[in-house]
Amino acid sequence: MKARRVLLLGPPGAGKGTQARTLAAELGVPQIATGDMLREAVAAGTEIGVRARAFMERGELVPDEVVVGVARERLAAEDAREGFILDGFPRTTAQARALDEMLRELGTGLERVVVLEVDEEELVQRLLRRAEIEGRSDDNEETIRNRMRVYREETQPLIDYYRQRGLLREVPGSGSVEDVGARLREALCA
Ligand code: ADP
Repeated sequence: MKARRVLLLGPPGAGKGTQARTLAAELGVPQIATGDMLREAVAAGTEIGVRARAFMERGELVPDEVVVGVARERLAAEDAREGFILDGFPRTTAQARALDEMLRELGTGLERVVVLEVDEEELVQRLLRRAEIEGRSDDNEETIRNRMRVYREETQPLIDYYRQRGLLREVPGSGSVEDVGARLREALCA
């Protein structure tokens, strides 16, 4: 049996988004990426976008209560009832607790957490390359280094949080997209 309520963890540039997209399509469940949702809110100029913008441009985390609200609404939607691939949420222990709580309210829970592991220098190189291709405003070297620091300080502790719950699998994130994808699919099997 393949897990269908999945969280992808890993540093910026580890390839969560790429893997989440194809995996979600394959499993027929939505990819829930708070970074994408926040960027859409910024582009649309909504109240949430206005609150999130400055944090995102500095590579800081958007306040928990804003992100938790966004995630809660998305997870409660009809299309997420049979599963989801979470990508970029939770990113703090407070968010992880809020996620546990909201899934409990929905009568469900996470089945698997996969952390994609990539060496920091490779990540910075990948993100600088992405900056040239996509022109994302938070993909400059200073902001990238800041996002790495924020990941180490705020998000890395979640690895232990989920390890203690027996949900964690660690997957090497270097190599081709296909190779990483194959390892990831294996990690979703019981
Ligand atoms: P990356 O993984 O490459 O850093 P994302 O698209 O996941 O990119 O996130 C971009 C930015 O959006 C983050 O740097 C942060 O400012 C904000 N963001 C996304 N998800 C969260 C979250 N769960 N909590 C707080 N901020 C978030």
